[in-house]
Amino acid sequence: MFVARETKGKIVNVLEEKCEKQDYFCPACGGRVILRQGKRVRTHFAHETLKDCLFVFENESPEHLNNKEVLYQWLKNETKVQLEYPIHEIKQIADVFVNNNLALEVQCSYLPQEKLKERSEGYRSQGFEVLWLLGKKLWLKERLTPLQYHFLYFSQNMGFYAWELDQDKQVLRLKYLLHQDLRGKLYYKIKEFAFYKGSLLEIFRVPFKRQQISNFRVFEDKQICHYIQQQLYYQNPFWMKQQAEAYQKGENLLTFSLKDWYPQVKPILANDFCQISQDLSSYYTNFQTYYQTKMQNDFQNLYPPAFYHQYFRENVVK
Ligand SMILES: [Zn+2]
Repeated sequence: MFVARETKGKIVNVLEEKCEKQDYFCPACGGRVILRQGKRVRTHFAHETLKDCLFVFENESPEHLNNKEVLYQWLKNETKVQLEYPIHEIKQIADVFVNNNLALEVQCSYLPQEKLKERSEGYRSQGFEVLWLLGKKLWLKERLTPLQYHFLYFSQNMGFYAWELDQDKQVLRLKYLLHQDLRGKLYYKIKEFAFYKGSLLEIFRVPFKRQQISNFRVFEDKQICHYIQQQLYYQNPFWMKQQAEAYQKGENLLTFSLKDWYPQVKPILANDFCQISQDLSSYYTNFQTYYQTKMQNDFQNLYPPAFYHQYFRENVVK
């Protein structure tokens, strides 16, 4: 934590002022915190014991502190920003609280899905938006972990996307147009924004801005039939379920040809996404319809949801 309360009640922020040796307390729970500083330590406060604090669950890593500082410093010249803002109604501290309505949460370590849901819904129950920004351990890699689905956001212009903070490269990274293939492998585009360059609030609005339609090409996997046969042979639960559903329609996945699997690369599919409340069903339908009318078997050009929507309106609904 960068913020603590002095014995006399004054709130101090170590990013803004020098702190002397004295007693400090957590502004949220009132418990004792210790000032940590030294040559190799970013000056900060840490709870003497976390046991009694209902707001804080773990001590912060240097990465978490650094990311939080970047967001605070970046925003403070352009808008109203509060560092470590306690919201007593929901027993949460927003890492950075912007314009009294947006909570920025830096997440650098694993947390249980239930906790993520509880915390996200907590903010929303108070009428606030919450934006989760991911530290190194949670960056999107080859495929999504069950937890990562719940950090995804969605816009018509950029599809599924996620935000990452990179201290090594000193950039805020946007991974967008996220898709996955039948093996679960991820495909996406990347935009990087150098720390402190331009307005951070404008950057957060990028997914919703009017923009040129971006796209990229992916190639179909010619071995996919063999792969699915193998998955069924080894009784992979996901593919067993797909096969059971196919049987109900009088089909059998083992008889599918390469053509039947087109398009192989699809939008991210899940039963629920913690950060997305829109109904995505028309996106999924328009996506499927588009490629069925194209029937190009070797590759797919992937576009944002707005593109398929437009195509559907102009060509299918007549
Ligand atoms: Zn506390």
